[in-house]
Amino acid sequence: MFENLSDRLSGVFDKLTKQGALSEDDVKTALREVRVALLEADVSLPVARDFVKAVTEKATGQAVTKSVTPGQQVVKIVHDELVHVLQGDETDIGTLKVDNPPAPILMVGLQGGGKTTTTAKLAKRLKEKHGKRVLMASLDVYRPAAMDQLKVLGEQIGVDTLPIVPGQSPADIAKRAKQQASMAGYDVYMLDTAGRLSIDDTLMAEVEEVKAITSPRETLLVVDGLTGQDAVHTAENFDGRIGISGVVLTRMDGDGRGGAALSMRAVTGKPIKFVGLGEKMDALEEFHPDRVAGRILG
Ligand code: GDP
Repeated sequence: MFENLSDRLSGVFDKLTKQGALSEDDVKTALREVRVALLEADVSLPVARDFVKAVTEKATGQAVTKSVTPGQQVVKIVHDELVHVLQGDETDIGTLKVDNPPAPILMVGLQGGGKTTTTAKLAKRLKEKHGKRVLMASLDVYRPAAMDQLKVLGEQIGVDTLPIVPGQSPADIAKRAKQQASMAGYDVYMLDTAGRLSIDDTLMAEVEEVKAITSPRETLLVVDGLTGQDAVHTAENFDGRIGISGVVLTRMDGDGRGGAALSMRAVTGKPIKFVGLGEKMDALEEFHPDRVAGRILG
């Protein structure tokens, strides 16, 4: 398995004579190790390259303090920069725009990424933490099982779902959800769109239409955090075509090293708002940049 980056860096620095400040050569040697660690954590090459460049500029010339080794010092600089990039505008993390009822939230993503589960988890959170009345609607007209799945989850967490009417198009269902949310006084209505195995035009056109009908306050992309670079490409695609307001990374309870999170943030510029940590309805947390930074560094 991976050798711990801190140990690797200490090894590198043991060979260097201690000077008053980190020289450019010291930093370069250390950052070669950092780059390898980033790539092993599945950070994409251009993102790793840019990241290392930014850290080189920050680290060169820094005075070496007595209490830590130069290796530890570089690790600290790298850690802080990782948190900085992952965090972006921290006010975005763990928050959803749900004022002005009824607030529509559009859930998008590929099939199997965890969209339906995350819709229900967020509905539960909005209800229990924020006292919101939530209505959930499944727009997956291709998979009746997905519609039933949302209904069952709704019953489990005590959140209403829009009654299923066979034969309606996703646009019809979106209109009905909007109307029902206004009439019955819901604070939030969540639209769980259909996923596909890969991105295709029909899927995107469908989501675009639903977006135009409802003007969602949030368009959240749900992606499997274990799929690494694929998750980043999915995000680029969805953001380019329909525009997303944030990302939920699922399966962060798995043993992925979190590099996708860094690439995601760096490439799309969109905040990671929540992470999924299991199948249960409570297994959803605000994104914690420091934990992911720790995981990337190993
Ligand atoms: P959808 O097709 O995108 O709607 O995906 P689903 O919500 O049906 O989820 C697919 C599978 O992934 C289900 O078995 C979920 O229980 C599981 N799942 C969803 N989120 C997580 C997560 O954060 N961690 C784990 N371990 N499993 C998850």
